[in-house]
Amino acid sequence: MTSSLSPIPFNRPYYTGRELDYIRASMEDGHIAGDGPFTKKCHAFFEERFQVKKALLTTSCTDALEMSSLLCRIGPGDEVIAPSFTFVSSINAFMLHGARPVFADIREDTLNIDESQVEGLITEKTKAIVAVHYAGVGCEMDALMALSKRYDIPLIEDNAHALAGKYKGRYLGTFGATATQSFHETKNFTSGEGGALLINDESLMERAEIIREKGTDRSRFFRGQVDKYSWVDLGSSFLPSDMLAAFLYAQLESLDEIQERRRRIWEGYKSGLKGWAEASEVKLPQVPAHCEQTYHMFYMLMPSLDKRQEFIAYLKEKRILAVFHYLPLHLSTMGKALGGKEGDCPVTEEMSDRLVRLPFYTGLTEEDQHRVMEAVKEFS
Ligand SMILES: *Cc1c(COP(=O)(O)O)cnc(C)c1O
Repeated sequence: MTSSLSPIPFNRPYYTGRELDYIRASMEDGHIAGDGPFTKKCHAFFEERFQVKKALLTTSCTDALEMSSLLCRIGPGDEVIAPSFTFVSSINAFMLHGARPVFADIREDTLNIDESQVEGLITEKTKAIVAVHYAGVGCEMDALMALSKRYDIPLIEDNAHALAGKYKGRYLGTFGATATQSFHETKNFTSGEGGALLINDESLMERAEIIREKGTDRSRFFRGQVDKYSWVDLGSSFLPSDMLAAFLYAQLESLDEIQERRRRIWEGYKSGLKGWAEASEVKLPQVPAHCEQTYHMFYMLMPSLDKRQEFIAYLKEKRILAVFHYLPLHLSTMGKALGGKEGDCPVTEEMSDRLVRLPFYTGLTEEDQHRVMEAVKEFS
């Protein structure tokens, strides 16, 4: 019976239909390296739509984080405070330059960094605080920004889930010294691989351009501000081809449509599963009233690790792919080598055991979502 059903994947990329036209336009224009016409359109989009002071496309969010690390002048012996419940890139980018991660636990309601723990983790060596807006719901920015100011430590927003989300009416990605975006295939807007660095601290803007252009002042040269360009600082190649920017621009143009589709799917899950969740001691995601979320994912918190594993196996039988993440970074092979041990971040450890994500993507059809929900409601 069940094997005749087609599988429902966990994620599937969504195409607006204009991507190929724009890639062709980029090829015909003949400027396919970085910083061509489509890159400029993307930059203008971020700056106008989200009121960020400066946007620079990068090859990934990981690279935008690494640029942030260079901008903060992270070096050996420095410490960076970050949640243990996040993707490895939020930490790797800083460790690559010699920093030691100091892991904070998360809040039980939003699974975001527990702002009340951060101050206790600050030392003389703290050089950055990383805030990850998990599932596109804002961290407690008032408290984090106050700490950042008081201790003069830059705040970096890992905004991979949260483009277009708001905290108290203000766009996420506009709070930190920098914020980083991902356009990986699994994110709301994609170019397969891709990212952006958003810069809010004006004193970092010029160096950001230099770091992204292999340590040269090529951007100033193209603006006519210098008559030749030369090597002025450390840097690397962090800029994507304009063909990828063309793909991304097609997606950004459809931002509202994409978000509306995702909102409907998210609300469909939340209202459709409410009764079952209450009866099954399953917790559905919570979004504080002062946060506008981005409908990046639909996760649930099962009563226990065993139940979670049973649930994933059960859905797999029904050819529905559900997944879990993140394994606590402090308990990873790398984290343990750094001294991490069980009990360091108890909320992270518990949520990581209990969390499951349902299939969630922009093109998920009503029928498929219905099938997922019917299957879920038969599980107890
Ligand atoms: C996806 C993701 C990243 C990495 O993005 P890439 O573009 O693949 O480098 C970093 N942080 C978070 C929170 C993510 O979800």
